[in-house]
Amino acid sequence: MTRDAVTTVIKALLSEKDFLNDLDEKIGDGDHGLNMARGATAAADALEELEDDDPKKILQAVGNAVIMNVGGSAGSLYGAGLLAAAEVLDENSAPDAPTLEKVFGAIVDEIQQRGQATQGDKTMLDVLIPIHETFKAENCAGKNFETLLTEARDAARDGLEITKTLIATKGRAAALKKKSVGFEDPGAASALIIFRALCGYWKDSFRA
Ligand code: ADP
Ligand code: MG
Repeated sequence: MTRDAVTTVIKALLSEKDFLNDLDEKIGDGDHGLNMARGATAAADALEELEDDDPKKILQAVGNAVIMNVGGSAGSLYGAGLLAAAEVLDENSAPDAPTLEKVFGAIVDEIQQRGQATQGDKTMLDVLIPIHETFKAENCAGKNFETLLTEARDAARDGLEITKTLIATKGRAAALKKKSVGFEDPGAASALIIFRALCGYWKDSFRA
């Protein structure tokens, strides 16, 4: 995870602030865009202070900035996920399928352990779990990284689409019970925005 990749995600989250707030307005308290934008700004400040380009240190700095500056359930879950992802990286880590399998595995495990949610609960995990599945070794045979990125992005988009059909059982939206059906989950939407930005960055960097 390079500095430029993180910067691409920061920009995407800042530009989707109103969209994410609107989604959260429908089944939550309308602050998810604001929370993610606050996290993005804190991450940008942390990156500026960090001189090192070690991917592990970058993810640690960003994770800590998110935990310290973002309220709401998503902030602590994303922050803890980033710190867990940092643990599987070292200074030589490069974006490839085995690395992303480890990174998304660590993120999913950490978020599941903290939030006690799983696939089907209408949360960010409905996007993060399908991304992780795509990079598992049994799915990767014979496919190049670019193809896998496209597959993972499509799986993430389908995961978000499925959240529309689900009843929320975790977080604020759970209070709405059946009335939560028909709306996308805001955390699943932010997870797709983040992953789409990363895919765009990685694909561009291969072509450069
Ligand atoms: P809050 O709900 O505290 O206002 P946000 O609006 O920033 O926080 O984030 C809401 C998102 O957090 C939800 O859309 C959902 O994806 C995610 N979320 C909430 N609770 C959980 C949980 N227990 N496990 C995983 N994700 C969760
Ligand atoms: Mg909210």
